[in-house]
Amino acid sequence: MFDKVLIANRGEIALRVLRACRELGIATVAVHSTADENAMHVRLADESVCIGPPPSPHSYLNIPAIVSACEITGAEAVHPGYGFLSENARFADILHEHDIAFIGPSGDHIRIMGDKIQAKKTAMELGIPVVPGSDGAVETVEEARTVADDMGYPVLIKASAGGGGRGMKLAETADDLEEAYTTARTESKAAFGDDAVYIEKYLGKPRHIEVQVLADGKGHAVHLGERDCSLQRRHQKVWEEALSPALNADQRAKIGATVADAMAKLGYSGVGTVEFLYENGEFYFIEMNTRLQVEHPVTEMITGIDLVQEQIRVASGLPLNITQEDVSFSGHAIECRINAEHPETFAPSPGRIEAVHVPGGLGVRIDSGIYAGYTIPPYYDSLIGKLIVFGKTRNECLMRLRRALGEYVIEGVSTTIPLFQRLLSEPAVMDGQYDIHWLEGYLAKSD
Ligand code: ADP
Repeated sequence: MFDKVLIANRGEIALRVLRACRELGIATVAVHSTADENAMHVRLADESVCIGPPPSPHSYLNIPAIVSACEITGAEAVHPGYGFLSENARFADILHEHDIAFIGPSGDHIRIMGDKIQAKKTAMELGIPVVPGSDGAVETVEEARTVADDMGYPVLIKASAGGGGRGMKLAETADDLEEAYTTARTESKAAFGDDAVYIEKYLGKPRHIEVQVLADGKGHAVHLGERDCSLQRRHQKVWEEALSPALNADQRAKIGATVADAMAKLGYSGVGTVEFLYENGEFYFIEMNTRLQVEHPVTEMITGIDLVQEQIRVASGLPLNITQEDVSFSGHAIECRINAEHPETFAPSPGRIEAVHVPGGLGVRIDSGIYAGYTIPPYYDSLIGKLIVFGKTRNECLMRLRRALGEYVIEGVSTTIPLFQRLLSEPAVMDGQYDIHWLEGYLAKSD
């Protein structure tokens, strides 16, 4: 096991990793930009190193500065959190060359899954069901037309290098195809420097269901059930729950086993999430995230497994000490992402936090780095906390969520707390009857 880990991230996830390290008896090194001198992850870490000015390309994405921070402090491993360098294969390789462990999968596995065409091909080869579509990249508009005509409309043109919903264009009919194809390529070239695109059948009313896996790179892998992240705004998850209200135990066991077997075969190491669209009882692979996810706590709440500790154990070379039979699911958990944003316009709301009161009590977890007197810098993501609630049943969980949201006070900046309070009076949310378009439709109606 490692003696000292450097946490290459900030905010709530840096704290989350720090807590896991501390419980494992591992010393922690925080890194921070000059804008984060007073951040909670810096205050709580055993040591801290300033790695640059506020803009993230000069600090949290600055690989030489982070490697130097490891060398100065003697950290043996780096936990990248999510975002920033967590899916940067070159970073994983560079650490490896410096004899520093990357708490995550191999650079090669990150590379495969970071390229959507390659990821989809790999998923198919491993027996994971995928969305029907083109066989790899589509080079010309004529080829696009042939594929789309054969498959039937609507179709989606997707960028191989895509992320965050960019480079993705819908063609409802044959008339839209040429424009969708051309814009997807241009947008992808501008955003990612790569204009490879592929075509997929567009699913009309799917849910977003993702399977959590844990693997040791030695051929052992288990699945930890699924999360339902269908409540999204602009392809960003807003509310996540485990387990999905849409699946039964047989469906869960089947898709879980498919994913775990695939990861064992791949020799994957660490935590990972295989994301699916789910419609009419069928799963369709969309992508794999080769890192810890924002919404991992809902899985922890229903399995009792600390995903970050497992990630660290596996990265230190230990084999998985959990078998599939050891994994059981109890109760229901929901996470609300609390952003410093206006709850109706979603405009960012950085600034000084005047007062904070967090909810507590049985089954309530807050992962957050804010405190009264803390100033949220304008340079980074607006996520300032996560409220995670557990209940024996989904209904109990919803009642507890309502109670906890009512206690949560953050003064000085706007937050998305009122949005969640509104959502709790919506029958679709209460009944778990929503697809990936529901929230956008609801927000458009209440404009
Ligand atoms: P990104 O990496 O850009 O986020 P994804 O492939 O993960 O791209 O897709 C993002 C979102 O786009 C999905 O969560 C879903 O809402 C929508 N989407 C992607 N593929 C399809 C599809 N074939 N049919 C319908 N919606 C899709």
